[in-house]
Amino acid sequence: LVSRKVKVEDTVLDIDGVRIGGDAPPVVIAGPCSIESEAQMEQTAAFLAARGVKILRGGAYKPRTSPYGFQGMGVDGLILGSQVAQANGMLFVTEVMDTRDVEIVAEHADILQVGARNMHNFALLREVGRARRPVLLKRGLSATIEEWLYAAEYILSEGNPEVILCERGIRTYEKWTRNTLDLSAVALAKQETHLPVIVDVTHAAGRRDLLIPLAKAALAVGADGIHVEVHPSPATALSDNEQQLDFEGYERFIGALQGQLKQP
Ligand code: PEP
Ligand code: MN
Repeated sequence: LVSRKVKVEDTVLDIDGVRIGGDAPPVVIAGPCSIESEAQMEQTAAFLAARGVKILRGGAYKPRTSPYGFQGMGVDGLILGSQVAQANGMLFVTEVMDTRDVEIVAEHADILQVGARNMHNFALLREVGRARRPVLLKRGLSATIEEWLYAAEYILSEGNPEVILCERGIRTYEKWTRNTLDLSAVALAKQETHLPVIVDVTHAAGRRDLLIPLAKAALAVGADGIHVEVHPSPATALSDNEQQLDFEGYERFIGALQGQLKQP
């Protein structure tokens, strides 16, 4: 179902007027790694909305490496994220980690995110496939392109055609970046499927100084959007301190991409 052999034309999602894929201009999905407080979300959303960002991200359920790390605000975070997004005229995307939470997350979010660590969670893929919300599907940390596309197939085969593929870097032997951004996967996914493909430069790089060149490269190979983490004060953030952009950094980032984004 995901294959271009089955459907030749690009799938273009229209989520409350925000178009993703095909001939739509590339979208920017931005926001903090974790939802931490009302002030943090309001500041970030107001800042991004004023700069034309239509999709706000923020994790309420966080897949942390350590069980002692901040695990997210849960339902309170969902409510906060959706309220702040709505107040600023934005869509809200957030991760769902557990089949038992799909219903509540779908109630508050406009787009359901399946994170890299859950790309192989077939029960979760089936469950979001039954939800009436678009799904942002991240590539697994060590998933082949074929495995990633089969994960999307799980969602479509349950009746949900609205899937956005997201390349976020894969694990390699390289240590100077957190992950290795796989641009071939972006080009191949665009070629082999009709689905929109976006690139998460934040988790791919794991460091701020590479975000501009990686985003430029992603757009050059045909990405339908860029995903980037932005926080009012990255140094005091409860997760991903090393890679979130502050507001000034976002201005520089988006300025460097202006020619390629052609935002109306
Ligand atoms: C995220 O986007 O919040 C996240 C945890 O990313 P990933 O699943 O790609 O690691
Ligand atoms: Mn993060």
